[in-house]
Amino acid sequence: MKRRSIHIFIFLAALLVEPLSGIGVAAGFQQHLIQKGETLSEIAQKYEVPVKLIIQANSIKSAHRIQTGKMLRIPSETFALKEILYQVRPGDTLIGIANRHNVDWKDLQRLNRISSPRSLQIGTEIRIPSDAVFGFRAPLRIPLVLTSKYGYRPHPVTGRWRMHEGIDLRAAVGTRVYASKGGRVIFAGRKGGYGKLVGIEHEDNFTTWYGHLSRIRVKVGQIVSQGKVIGLSGNTGISTGPHLHFEIRYKGRSEKPTKYITIP
Ligand SMILES: [Zn+2]
Repeated sequence: MKRRSIHIFIFLAALLVEPLSGIGVAAGFQQHLIQKGETLSEIAQKYEVPVKLIIQANSIKSAHRIQTGKMLRIPSETFALKEILYQVRPGDTLIGIANRHNVDWKDLQRLNRISSPRSLQIGTEIRIPSDAVFGFRAPLRIPLVLTSKYGYRPHPVTGRWRMHEGIDLRAAVGTRVYASKGGRVIFAGRKGGYGKLVGIEHEDNFTTWYGHLSRIRVKVGQIVSQGKVIGLSGNTGISTGPHLHFEIRYKGRSEKPTKYITIP
């Protein structure tokens, strides 16, 4: 599917959902015929899509009992679930729309290149980042600036090619760092190159990690809710300057965080 038709598709889906809640999530799908002996996690790996997305897309009740010969809908991660389109209605304000969709209005302004939030035109489509599927939120409340991407890169300090297991977000020392999602603190302390590090365990085998902190404000075992301040960003460990290193792991393996949170 080309990008344009995807947008139209997402827009139509958003329209369908809009009258109910104002929140819509749409995805593109591929089909997969379940082969004998195949497991959901094998299928998920094959398409490089989290198992949870497949479960949701097919309303599967038990992940252990999938039927051979059944057609599965496989959500296409690359373009799915990234954003929805919202059509501006009479009386809407950018802040109102942002609040209802649990996003920062400044993010909406930037993403949609809105020169003045007061000049919203009825009927205009607004792109809204949608991270509602897994429920992760950005760990910072400042405008997000990605200073280093996830993936292989020459290490900024040693120069050796290494996997960068998370993303780096620009943050002055002392910037509040928030739990990306509710969960239980499983690590709070120093760890090698990470410096002062916090790790949180979430439902469905996800963990999030926050590195190079200057202060840690939580303890191991503590239950934190989403948006709880877990520490202050810093420059501890192996780091070339103040920033937050943020990881999302699924079953212990790092995932591309931008699959789960939107960075404009
Ligand atoms: Zn990093």
